Amino acid sequence: MLKATKIRIYPNKAQEQQLAQDFGNARFVWNTALGLKQQAYADKLPLSCYDIKKLLPVWKNGEHEFLKLTHSQVLQEVIRHLDVAYKNAFRRVKNKQVATSKRSKNKNVYGFPVFKSKHDSRQAIAYPQGVRVDDNKLHLPKIGLIKAKVHRTLAGKIKTVTVSRESTGKYYASILTENFEVKNEPLQSFDKNKIIGVDLGVKDLLVTSNSDKLPNPKYLKKQVKKLRHVQKDLSRKIEHAKARCLADGKPLKEQSQYFGANIAKNRQQLARAHEKVRFARENYQHQVSRQLANENQVVIAETLKIKNMLQNRKLSKAISDCGWYGFLSKLDYKLQANGGRLEQVSTWFPSTKTCNECGCINEHILLKHRIWTCSECNTVHDRDINAAKNIKDGGIVQLKAAGLSVYAHGGDVRPCSKSEAIADEVGSLVL
Ligand SMILES: [Zn+2]
Repeated sequence: MLKATKIRIYPNKAQEQQLAQDFGNARFVWNTALGLKQQAYADKLPLSCYDIKKLLPVWKNGEHEFLKLTHSQVLQEVIRHLDVAYKNAFRRVKNKQVATSKRSKNKNVYGFPVFKSKHDSRQAIAYPQGVRVDDNKLHLPKIGLIKAKVHRTLAGKIKTVTVSRESTGKYYASILTENFEVKNEPLQSFDKNKIIGVDLGVKDLLVTSNSDKLPNPKYLKKQVKKLRHVQKDLSRKIEHAKARCLADGKPLKEQSQYFGANIAKNRQQLARAHEKVRFARENYQHQVSRQLANENQVVIAETLKIKNMLQNRKLSKAISDCGWYGFLSKLDYKLQANGGRLEQVSTWFPSTKTCNECGCINEHILLKHRIWTCSECNTVHDRDINAAKNIKDGGIVQLKAAGLSVYAHGGDVRPCSKSEAIADEVGSLVL
């Protein structure tokens, strides 16, 4: 199993300089190799990653002697990455699949590799080997020992290490390790008391079938004022720089070329504010998912239709602040590591309108009804808790249909046949 751990590193001045040189050299190799690739495609000539790798020593001993300052494997890795980027783009073309990365802007929907700039917000290099991590020290070839904050022990063999300088001006090392530790075998039968249904929401991150509500800390909302201020300041400065350019009769340049010292400082402030929000949110998600995974064997949630929900503009900011997708993926791997599972039920299931007591569907329930009374059995429901309970029931039906068994606490372990499960499902639909 591969596992990535990102640690903060603190290079000293000389090391920062060396890293700047390495980032620059890696960029030079990327851009040169990309130029050659594009030319080769235009001329319909074959040019492989291996062909370009052979050029590296030629460049070094020729007019690009500065490349000698960088560890040779780092430069070879750049060419390998370019090759992978091309392969991925061609695969997307074949599958008519649009790339999701930032690079896929404008006409480049398949995410073909693009030229890199000194002004890119993130600079990175990768070491395929030769990196050591000792207590709070990272040893990089040609750079030496860098002070680091190793917040957890790294188990397994180090595969690759990516050193980056982020838009915040901070340096990180992302360490990919491989360990051969066996995960817990997936459970085949579950204790009903250790199955929980969760309803994901905007006001509360989640409401559980055990009637717990976990509020959504609206980090972004708190920071939004600050962010707006910095963002405004930044765009004003860029506009001024453009206006000066026009007044001097100079042609307009690319946006990134207006970044003088002040603008660069502003950009960094903005990046730091965003980073703070992201870290706080991630941290909260890790805490909540850890607790859920430790206390339960199965967590049942609805399948997300984030795309549809984002179309509702008013809700979209609040929703993207919740980070449901990130939350569910954290929950998923934590449960799996314990042998448990995340079960998702699809949203055709009328989880909010079905009374969990008698099963009757109350069509009159609207979004504004937080508390409602069932027209059949008169049970008073909290909208979200009732939904979580229905999600749990729907998930249990799904587990049984998959041939897994669910037993009540203290009861027998009763494997359920597929036909029984389907009968069960039909029954719950009729109700
Ligand atoms: Zn009812």
